[in-house]
Amino acid sequence: MSYPEVIEQSNQVLKALVDAGERVLGYIYPHPPHEIIIAHGLKPSLVRTNPSVVGAYEASLQTFSCSLTRNLFSQRVNNSFPQLAGIVFSGNTCDALQNVGDVWRKRFPKDNVFRLTYPVGDLGASSVDFLAMEIKAFSDELASLYGEEFSESSFREAIMLLDEIRNALQLLYCVRILHPSLISYNTLSSLVGEFLTAPTQEAADRIKMTWNEVLERIENMGQRNKVGQLRDSLLNHDLSDFETVIDTSGPRIAVIGGMIEPNTVAGLLENVHGISDTTLVLDMLSFGFKTVFTPPVGIEDDPYEESARSILGAHSEPTQEGLPKRITFLKDVLTRLSIHGLIVCEQSFCDPDEFESPSLERAAKEVGVPTVKLPLDSELSDRARIEGRIQTFLETIDDN
Ligand code: SF4
Repeated sequence: MSYPEVIEQSNQVLKALVDAGERVLGYIYPHPPHEIIIAHGLKPSLVRTNPSVVGAYEASLQTFSCSLTRNLFSQRVNNSFPQLAGIVFSGNTCDALQNVGDVWRKRFPKDNVFRLTYPVGDLGASSVDFLAMEIKAFSDELASLYGEEFSESSFREAIMLLDEIRNALQLLYCVRILHPSLISYNTLSSLVGEFLTAPTQEAADRIKMTWNEVLERIENMGQRNKVGQLRDSLLNHDLSDFETVIDTSGPRIAVIGGMIEPNTVAGLLENVHGISDTTLVLDMLSFGFKTVFTPPVGIEDDPYEESARSILGAHSEPTQEGLPKRITFLKDVLTRLSIHGLIVCEQSFCDPDEFESPSLERAAKEVGVPTVKLPLDSELSDRARIEGRIQTFLETIDDN
């Protein structure tokens, strides 16, 4: 599915939800507290960039705004933005989001604009406490604005729903890594896209149905346990105990980067001449792998603490401290999962991506994996050249 088709489909889903009387809360940063939002009777939905809207110069924005925030702001300025009950900006993640959130509130005072501030560092229990307090304040704001108090029963239902979705997607990610011929990257990225558009029961049913179809074949191959072991290792951020022989016929590529959707990457690869359906075996993108491999929210403790623990248990972002851990994990992925080439995506004018990518390239080089860096803007204005670079890169990969 092309990215414009993804946006069209996403808009239709959102419209159907709104027509059915649902309130949709948009988010921009990849780790919103989904379960808490649902516990207030709202549907969380990723606010997507739109390649057909030019994120042009906007006098209200600071010069350091990235292409993603410019595109979102331009959609709002020209009224092509989806119908949302509110929008959540993150604090402490990057200057661009912090600033655009402030400008948005000033420029569109009737919009319900929220800010959820994330801890930058990984300080264990202190970071959990900090984020739990932030999520509690956010939850109180939702209750006061929409008049719907936090519901314990809806929270528990949301935990089960998100578990179903993430669990099936995690297993499908692992199947794609171990046996890429069993599920195409296009299918996987479309399912992730459905989750991002709205974590509904319908989306969960489609994702589970795909997993059940794949499961039968995995069981026939005697690989069910291996898929489960890989899922556990990826959830624990530790591949050191994972051993398997991967069939490496043909090059195996991974893609890494920040706030870029798997659907965008799948759309780019569609036009790359000669690429095989089994070439891209793993994305390590913020809106893909890092969102999917988020540990479940527990039910034992305070809901805000459990929610914070789950968010902070996900693989960390370029906006957070923890680069050495990310580098160690990347090297393990490249070596233990038989990756022959790495595509490093950078959102144009994104400081966190631009600070991170030299370290990613160096790490790959240290384990003998070639890389190509792709600067992407939300309009994919350089599309033909980017596709050409991917093709040239693939031609240089040695998969022996
Ligand atoms: S793309 Fe980069 S600069 Fe833009 S909002 Fe995301 S992290 Fe911030």
